Amino acid sequence: MPTLRTVDAPSCPDDGVVVRVRATGVCRSDWHAWKGHDPVALPHVPGHELAGVVDVVGPEVSRWRPGDRVTVPFVCGCGRCEYCRSGQAQVCPHQTQPGFTGPGSFADLVPVRAADTNLVRLPDQVDFVTAASLGCRFATAFRALTAHGRVGRGDWLAVHGCGGVGLSAVMVGVALGARVVAVDVSPAALGRARELGAEVAVDASAVSDVGAELVAHTGGGAQVSVDALGSPATAVASVHSLRPRGRHVQVGLLLGPSSTPPLPMDQVVAKELEIYGSHGMAAADYPAMLELVADGTLRPDMLVGEVIGLERAGAALSAMDRPASSAGMTVVEIPT
Ligand SMILES: [Zn+2]
Ligand SMILES: [Zn+2]
Repeated sequence: MPTLRTVDAPSCPDDGVVVRVRATGVCRSDWHAWKGHDPVALPHVPGHELAGVVDVVGPEVSRWRPGDRVTVPFVCGCGRCEYCRSGQAQVCPHQTQPGFTGPGSFADLVPVRAADTNLVRLPDQVDFVTAASLGCRFATAFRALTAHGRVGRGDWLAVHGCGGVGLSAVMVGVALGARVVAVDVSPAALGRARELGAEVAVDASAVSDVGAELVAHTGGGAQVSVDALGSPATAVASVHSLRPRGRHVQVGLLLGPSSTPPLPMDQVVAKELEIYGSHGMAAADYPAMLELVADGTLRPDMLVGEVIGLERAGAALSAMDRPASSAGMTVVEIPT
């Protein structure tokens, strides 16, 4: 069981900052690291979905001052390569990830490298718990649907898997004016998707061919389909849900050797489908999303279940040994 201990305060990188953590999401990715599916160096501080206040600023940082309210993408770019310089830090080959490649945010203080590239200023209207709930899932869902899926008003959007990232995709899709079909095997998850505005809910365990079922429900297939779970079956079903010229976005991680989906490339050719992978969202793309959070168009706070203290973070991680419930995400809040 992860335990709360006193450790040395992190040193501040020359090009980075140390953030005083005010809230941090508990995510299944942390659980994967703890379980050894995504190995980290031990002892280790997990946590990558953070919001807080800049505490210490390195000498090479020009855009940030102590006291600034910030969040940070889970993928932090190096700040120097061609991808970072063009606003695509989410695929930086030299990326760091708090809570994986270094100490994370289940702590009072967390270091962030390349602060001028990676920090995101929080609008005054967005509180720390809500900002932490953007985490990896909500921001990833937002970018999957806007940058890759290019979801338009009236489009059919299929969401395969209604866990945290899937329900985020349902909410973002509805806000963008899409007609959402939610797919899961859990009645509770499908019920939650309905509450968030999904027009159709399909229980994948009750139909023999999910793709064909969705093509029937959408009058010929969805314009955009997202695999928010990350399994060969859901990835393939997602591609089969599309109408000609449709776009599949792979958001769920496919971890492990048996997880490469046998994608129907014949369908990709015949229907001119587009296949995308989405890996988080760079800091450069956050302002457009935060604007919609600040004005209430997007309500990530509705996806928050429990808010707990740091002393309960270890227990919250170990609770993920059980399958996800639809109770919403857990956020750790650290008072001043
Ligand atoms: Zn880079
Ligand atoms: Zn996460």
